[in-house]
Amino acid sequence: MAPSLRHRVDTAMSWVARLTRWAPVRAVQVERASFDTHALSAGRPLEGAEYQQGTLAGYEVREYLLAKWGRACAYCGASGVSLNLDHIHPRSRGGSDRISNLTVACIPCNQTKNATLVEVFLKDSPALLSRILKQAKTPLRDAAAVNATRWALWRALETAGLSVHTASGGRTKWNRSRTGAAKSHTLDALHVGPLAGVTAWPCRVLVVKATGRGTYARTRTDRYGFPRLRLPRTKHVKGFATGDLVRATIPTGKKAGVHTGRVAVRTTGNFNITTRHGTVQGIGHRHIRLLQRADGYGYTTHPETRRGAAFPPPPEDGGLHTGGIR
Ligand SMILES: [Zn+2]
Repeated sequence: MAPSLRHRVDTAMSWVARLTRWAPVRAVQVERASFDTHALSAGRPLEGAEYQQGTLAGYEVREYLLAKWGRACAYCGASGVSLNLDHIHPRSRGGSDRISNLTVACIPCNQTKNATLVEVFLKDSPALLSRILKQAKTPLRDAAAVNATRWALWRALETAGLSVHTASGGRTKWNRSRTGAAKSHTLDALHVGPLAGVTAWPCRVLVVKATGRGTYARTRTDRYGFPRLRLPRTKHVKGFATGDLVRATIPTGKKAGVHTGRVAVRTTGNFNITTRHGTVQGIGHRHIRLLQRADGYGYTTHPETRRGAAFPPPPEDGGLHTGGIR
């Protein structure tokens, strides 16, 4: 696996290990990919029958194209309407069934365009035409990365001795509709797999961002690769290193107040602190107290506000509930 993809799996596994240490995790639910990008590579024609009969492959093609084209009509930008698959170069004029020749279009656009050449249909909007033709050739990269790592992650979880279950994205959606939860990453995670009900809703979300541990290079280079300036030999200044979680309490002046966040050290002893609200520059090290050493991650929290309108009804009996903290 490419290092950039390997890193995704390693990070997920490292967090599974931490959560397992902190809480009694009995099983892991992994949401299956909604499409298999290997089968959907841009140059591959779709199997006619599968595509027409709406089998899994056909369903995946539709999901893939909706994701790739942002769930909006490629020609007029309409969203929230029914979208048809549309052959960019019309089929009746020899256009292929390849993914790179397909887009999604609203029913009026799809019917108006029909057998018209796309160059004629969009003769008044050359910019849109070139954008569509360019995007058609571009694979959906993010989705491909997620899919490539999903099976590797699943295998790594199994190797770690955890009970791993997979569930479809459709199931997540169905669970959300039953509990009335809004759509967010956190609430989606809460709704993966079999779910009897939700007994405790998250009110704050911990956001963990991989920030790395800095670089070994002790120089910066110019655009030709020649050393431009030298960095300090040590990463520590006055006992702090870039990435440490700190709290600064400043009694007076323009920066008065309490600032909590990630510090960036400077040899001058005046540091920058990146908080939830932005970066505060030039804070003297005497005002700063260490909360936690840098561990390669940046931590912030934000409130989970999009709980959705309907609060779920209380459980009917004392049966098994898989909801709440999963
Ligand atoms: Zn349209």
